[in-house]
Order: sequence, then C-alpha cells, then structure tokens
Amino acid sequence: MASLSAGHSEPVSGVPASGDSAQGAEAAVAVQQQAGSDPYFPDHGDARYRVHRYELTLDYRPGPNRLAGSARINAIAGRSPLTEFTLNLSDFKIGRVRVDGRQPHYTHRGGKLRVRPAKPVRAGAAFTVEVQWSGNPRPVNSPWGGLGWEELEDGALVASQPIGAPSWYPCNDRPADKAAYQISITTPSAYAVVAGGRLLTRTTRASTTTWVYEQPAPTSSYLVGLAIGKYQTVLLGDPGPGGVPQHGHIPAHLLPEFSRDFARQPQMMDLFQELFGPYPFDEYAVVVTDEELDVPVEAQGLSLFGANHVDGARGSERLVAHELAHQWFGNSVSIADWRHIWLNEGFAKYAEWLWSERSGGRTAQQLAAAAHRLLSSQPQDLRLSDPGRKLMFDDRLYERGGLVLHAVRCAMGDEAFFRMLRGWAGLHRGGAVTTRTFTAHVNRFADEPLDGLFDAWVNRAALPALPTQGPARPNHPPTNAESA
Ligand SMILES: [Zn+2]
Repeated sequence: MASLSAGHSEPVSGVPASGDSAQGAEAAVAVQQQAGSDPYFPDHGDARYRVHRYELTLDYRPGPNRLAGSARINAIAGRSPLTEFTLNLSDFKIGRVRVDGRQPHYTHRGGKLRVRPAKPVRAGAAFTVEVQWSGNPRPVNSPWGGLGWEELEDGALVASQPIGAPSWYPCNDRPADKAAYQISITTPSAYAVVAGGRLLTRTTRASTTTWVYEQPAPTSSYLVGLAIGKYQTVLLGDPGPGGVPQHGHIPAHLLPEFSRDFARQPQMMDLFQELFGPYPFDEYAVVVTDEELDVPVEAQGLSLFGANHVDGARGSERLVAHELAHQWFGNSVSIADWRHIWLNEGFAKYAEWLWSERSGGRTAQQLAAAAHRLLSSQPQDLRLSDPGRKLMFDDRLYERGGLVLHAVRCAMGDEAFFRMLRGWAGLHRGGAVTTRTFTAHVNRFADEPLDGLFDAWVNRAALPALPTQGPARPNHPPTNAESA
C-alpha cells in the first residue's frame, strides 16, 4: 500500500532548485504568456490568466454516477486587467461561484463558465475562484471518442487527453497552464481511489472513505487522471533509499498476469533515469482497469492500462515503457499547445526503442528501419511541426517522431545525443515547450546546426531517407587487434 501518513516536506511549488532548471521555469513562463488560444481547440483555455493551484473536493457515488464538487482555484491575472475570464466545465448544475469571496456575474453554456468579477482583477494580481457543481459526469465528445470522466461497470476512470478535463472539474483547459493539485474524493468505502501524486490521508467514516491526494508538480489539466474501482495495490520492486516508489492498482484476478507484465518496470525506471535524468515526480502508479481500453493513457505520476494490456507474456511491454517515458516527455516537459504533440509522442516512441535496445530486444536502428519501411508505404501528407487536429494522434506521427530522434542521434553520436536529452528534460522540467524550443536546444549540443535535418523531418511531409549510419554500439569496445 501507499503511505497513508500526511506531512511530506517537499515545497508545494513547481519551481525547480537547480540553476539550469530555474532558467527552464522562466522560459516556461515566457511560453505561457505568449501562448494564446490553442489553434486546434480554440474553445479550450483562456490565456488571459493562469492557475497555480487547484483544490478539488469531490463526492462521487458510482451507482447513480453522481458527482458533486467544489473547487478552489488560485490564479494570477495576465498583463491586462481581468474584467472577464472563462473556465471550461461541462454542463453540470452550478451552485455557488465566487471571485475573491464576492459574487460575480456568470453564464454557463456550451461547456464554458464565463465569469465577470464584481470588480476587475488588476493586471498581474493573484485571485481566487470558488465554484460548486453537481450532476452526472459523462465524457466530452471528440473525434477520438469520449474523453474524460467515464463511468465503468463498477467505478469510474478519467483519461482526458486532449480535452476531457472539463468533463469533471472547472479548469483553464490548456496544456501550458500547469498548476499544483490537491484532490479530495469521498466515495463508498468498497472502492479504492487512485489519483496521480501522493496519498496524504485516507479517512473512513461510516460507509464512505475520503482520499486526499497532493500533486505539487506543475500539471496540465488533461493530465489529472483518476481511477475509482475495486483494486488491489502492490508495490513494484524495492525503491530503496531515494528511489521512486512504484505502485500497481489491479483487479485481484489480473494480479498473476500483471506481476509478470510489469516485472521489468523498475528496470525501465532505472534505465530512463540514466538516459533522461531524474524521474520528475515523487512517485509513479499504474492502474489496470477491469475493462478494455483502446490504448493506455498517461497522466501525471500515473498511467492507465486496460485489462487487454495484460496477458502474462509481456505482450504490451513496449507500452509500459511508452507510458513511463511520458512522465518526462509530455508530463514534466509539456507542450505549449497541441500543434507540438510530436514532442510527446515521438519521444515516448523513441523510449520504447531505447528500452528494447537496452533490454536485449531489437536495436533502435532495427526498429527505426522497420518504422521507416512502414512509413514508406503510407501517404506522406503529415507535417510533424503542425499535423492539424485531425492527424494529431495518427500512428505516423508517433513513428516519424521516433525517427526524428533517431536521426538526431545518428547525426550527433551517442555521447552528445544523451547529454542533449538529459539537458532537455532538466532545463524544461515543469515547463512548456515548442518545436522551435527543441530544435534550438539540439543545435546547442551539435557540432554543426541540424537545421537541414529538422526541416526535412519536421517541417516537410515527404519522408527523408533512413539515416544510414547507425549509432555506435558501446557495449563491445574493439580490442587492439581489431582497431589496428
Ligand atoms: Zn503516448
């Protein structure tokens, strides 16, 4: 079980300690301030303010699928006085709304809560919004099916990428607006509640139990994940002093398969920390639901898998690696807006290949060649730098994204490539980035600018040739005789 004691000592702040990371935080703030509405989802998010903390107090009854919530949102106005602002929230019944304790004027329609404070918030000033809501949560419709709060046969699951968060709480729904979260959920005691972050307290009263989770790291609204169900909790591996606690939450009957399929996750964690730098959060949890999911989904400090992703034969191990890698790429280093989604998915795809290479499977070069063959046989009408909303989750974006990193690695060599990768994860920890941020970062580590490489792979649709020179294999150093 997770620790049930309160009182952890980490500061409730996403500002990293090291000098490099502090620069990253400044850069992230700059990106947040520049970013306007999301080009792919103009109805989501409001760039006129940002949130630094959400406190959500929820009561959920699985039988009637009834949710009642109250939110306390600490926010900061942008560079202009705030006469009005919006929060995204699905069509719940709205109770009390307050801005700094005073009743504002508000309207709620089309998934938007439009709030006009009694008195405008001064430019740059901190303000607090309180909202109460209740109703039957249901997923947000999207071209990719229902997103966000989903009622299961016995419980609920929240996976919101990209625009499902308003299905259950009021939020500034844009990936660059990252905030700390405290989430308190009361539900019948037969159910376990799993959220990303540290379980601070679990309190049982009569027939209900209240679970309080704290996620101090800056978190995008779509990455607030949740699972409510009948789960057994197991510790994966032995984190040891300073290690990352890793828990699994699984229906009891899937425990044998899970134990085998996720057995190597602690080794993955070790490898990724070696390759990408320290794991960016305090803990990591995986949930396997009792139902099937099309694909596993990443959340902050948490990944959600379906029953179809465990088979007792490690059939989905690449996805275990993929979701874990998102904790660095996508969750800690986030995208400024959805045009840059390849920075999440290409990196997670390449992490699959790195795990394969380093765990005795096919090499990254072999996997890159296979991906290249696949892409060669498919239409070449996708530009990674701006794929469009329709193609943002296209398989080709994942494969080609992985190939970009492989091409960069081949061009730079392993030493510079992994130094660059660790620098990327460290410098932008807790922040938000764009494709341009990445290409500029790579060029600082390369002997000569890789602008041509990026132009061909990222800005254009035609598929460049597979890099012919594979990365050096360091595990067999040549003997004197061979090198002569
Ligand atoms: Zn992914």
